[in-house]
Amino acid sequence: MTPSNAEIPSSILIVGSGVFGLSTAYSLCKNPLFKNTAITIVDRQPFPTPDGSSIDTSRIIRADYASPPYARLATSAQTAWRTTFSPHYHETGLCVTATSPSQTYVPASLANVRALGTDRVQVLESAEEIQNVCGLQGKGERGREGSGCTGYVNWSSGWADAEGAMRYLRLMVEEMGRVRFITASVSRLLIDHTSSLVSGVKLGDNTTLTASLTILAAGAWTPSLLDLRGIATATGQVLGYLPISSAEQAALESYPTLLNLSSGLFMIPPSSNLLKVARHGHGYKNPTTIPNPESPAGEEITVSLPYTHVDDPSQSVPLEGQRAMRNFLEQIHPSFSGRPFTKTRICWYTDTRSGDFLISYHPQYEGLFVATGGSGHAFKFLPVIGDSIVECVLGRTPDDFKGRWEWPAERLPETLWDGDGSRGGPVGMILIEEIAKSASKL
Ligand SMILES: Cc1cc2nc3c(=O)[nH]c(=O)nc-3n(C[C@H](O)[C@H](O)[C@H](O)COP(=O)(O)OP(=O)(O)OC[C@H]3O[C@@H](n4cnc5c(N)ncnc54)[C@H](O)[C@@H]3O)c2cc1C
Repeated sequence: MTPSNAEIPSSILIVGSGVFGLSTAYSLCKNPLFKNTAITIVDRQPFPTPDGSSIDTSRIIRADYASPPYARLATSAQTAWRTTFSPHYHETGLCVTATSPSQTYVPASLANVRALGTDRVQVLESAEEIQNVCGLQGKGERGREGSGCTGYVNWSSGWADAEGAMRYLRLMVEEMGRVRFITASVSRLLIDHTSSLVSGVKLGDNTTLTASLTILAAGAWTPSLLDLRGIATATGQVLGYLPISSAEQAALESYPTLLNLSSGLFMIPPSSNLLKVARHGHGYKNPTTIPNPESPAGEEITVSLPYTHVDDPSQSVPLEGQRAMRNFLEQIHPSFSGRPFTKTRICWYTDTRSGDFLISYHPQYEGLFVATGGSGHAFKFLPVIGDSIVECVLGRTPDDFKGRWEWPAERLPETLWDGDGSRGGPVGMILIEEIAKSASKL
């Protein structure tokens, strides 16, 4: 519930130290309005969270959006990537492609980056042009499936060492000496159902942390702490890592990232002799039955929640996902045929119906603010999203995000979610079913 006056909370508890939580803490520390506010971050894992969405070898940094507000915000983030965060940023370009013109995100994104007027963009009209720009070995029909045959390269986009950038921001926050960091798992919100007031959280060991404002930024786990049915859900995305030689690293590292939006498959230039392939897709759902986190009676609800290599250290990507990544890699770089991924990982998006973030006071509970809904594209905003979140905490949602980041007026069945049009690959997969299919095929 938005406070009626611009009262500054005396204490703020942030649940989650990923992109949303950590950047919020940094912005609160910098903002003189919060100079007397006690700030705490609690995370279920020691930093850097091994299965957090924000921790990985690389993330694409782009202003290439079909939606103008995100293109604008990403452009301002990029200024910070090129300066403050430059040790962790590589501007080698991003090639956004499709195998058919029916993929409408590509031309919409091209129109937006052109409208920004600052990015160096080159239109690519054939598979051969894409293959040349990206230094791909794969040619012919197979090569074309991998590369796509229409698109553009934005030489002003790049990629970031995600873990490195998160460590860097964490250090900056620690150096400000304002934030108390706690490693503990939150089991539930402290909700007074008579007054509809949230006064903090209960931890797994039954102790409590109280605060005048609780900011829930638990990423894909947020639906385990708040009933987000019809608003946000966890989807598992696949990643594969392949060690390569120093000569291969040198040959590939300066080319742009290839993002084929028809398949959702992408390859970011390798770093530290490790090549990564992944899919920006509809992902796996993991329906899990839990007590309704908001209900005192504790009746059960079923929501999709992350299931990670921390839950099961032997977890690997289901065969379906491994095959898709391998096929893509062999289409674009046939010389990697027969070389297995040495590590695969499922990383969890917090998807919303439109791909918009959810940065909002809770409409019903006083003292509760939610900052999540990264929808597979929030990393690039690391340097700026905290400032936007704090603006929203102060009741000043940026004009172009009004109606996008706010709590939706109604819950919408997930079957009716449109997304942002950027996803490729198979639809409707359930993690446990794909794991079972993999086991039967081994
Ligand atoms: C495979 C993959 C590829 C991506 N690629 C890109 C890209 O190229 N470019 C881009 O911009 N974005 C990308 N993204 C999206 C981006 O990484 C995410 O949107 C962003 O990192 C989400 O941050 P977060 O803070 O919401 O979640 P997280 O980083 O997951 O942070 C949530 C934190 O909450 C903690 N937590 C959860 N439950 C509890 C609890 N009960 N108690 C205490 N703590 C808890 C977790 O331990 C975790 O540290 C990608 C995401 C994935 C998964």
